[in-house]
Amino acid sequence: MHILLVEDDPLLGEGICIALRRGAFAVDWVQDGASGLMAMRDGEFDLVVLDLGLPRMDGIEVIRQVRAAGNPVPILVLSARERPSDRTLGLDVGADDYLGKPFDTAELLARVRALIRRSSGRATPSLEAGPLRLDPATLTATWKGRSLDLTRREFALLRVLMEQRGRPMARDTIQRHLYGWNEDVASNAVDVHVHQLRRKLEPAAIRTVRGIGYALGDVAGDTA
Ligand code: CA
Repeated sequence: MHILLVEDDPLLGEGICIALRRGAFAVDWVQDGASGLMAMRDGEFDLVVLDLGLPRMDGIEVIRQVRAAGNPVPILVLSARERPSDRTLGLDVGADDYLGKPFDTAELLARVRALIRRSSGRATPSLEAGPLRLDPATLTATWKGRSLDLTRREFALLRVLMEQRGRPMARDTIQRHLYGWNEDVASNAVDVHVHQLRRKLEPAAIRTVRGIGYALGDVAGDTA
C-alpha cells in the first residue's frame, strides 16, 4: 500500500512518515499543494494524507481538482483544530475523513487502515485467504494457525497480494506498493521477498505467474 503525504511542516511530516512506515506502508512526501496534485496525477496511491494549509495551492483546492479529474483516491485531511469550518468544507469538496491537529499517530494509522478497508470494499479488519490470515492493525500474520515472523516489507507484500484476491500482480506494481520513490531498491527486491515468504509459509503459498509476476497460491485452508 502506497501513501502520499502532503504536509509542509517538516517536523510533523517526518513524524507521519515514520509512523506510516512502521505501519508497513510505503510513503512519498511532498511539501506543497501543487506538488501534491502533480504526484496524484502521475502516481498510483492507495491513500492521500493531506494538510489543508499548504503553500502553492491550499488543500481544499487540491481536493477540488483531484475530484474534478475523477480520481477516487481516498483522502484523509489534516486540519487545524481552530478552523473547524475547514473540516466541513474539506469533506464537502470530496475528502473522506479528517483528523484535527495535534493528533495521536495511533489514531492516524487507525483512520488510514479504516479508509483503505472501506475503499477495498472489505467489511472485516483482518485479511484472510485460505490458511493465511493478516491483521493490519497489529502487523501480525498466521499461516495454518502458526504465527509468522515477518519483516515489514514481507507483511506489506502479503497484504497487497491478499487485496488482489488471487489475481496476479506485476513485479513493478508490487514494488510500487512496497517502496517510496526515493528509496534505493535492488532490481530483484520483490523476488527476494517472495523467496523469503515461501520459506516462512510454504513454497506453494505464492505462485509465479509467467510473464506477469506473482499471485497468492491456491492452498487449502485447513488449519494444522
Ligand atoms: Ca500546513
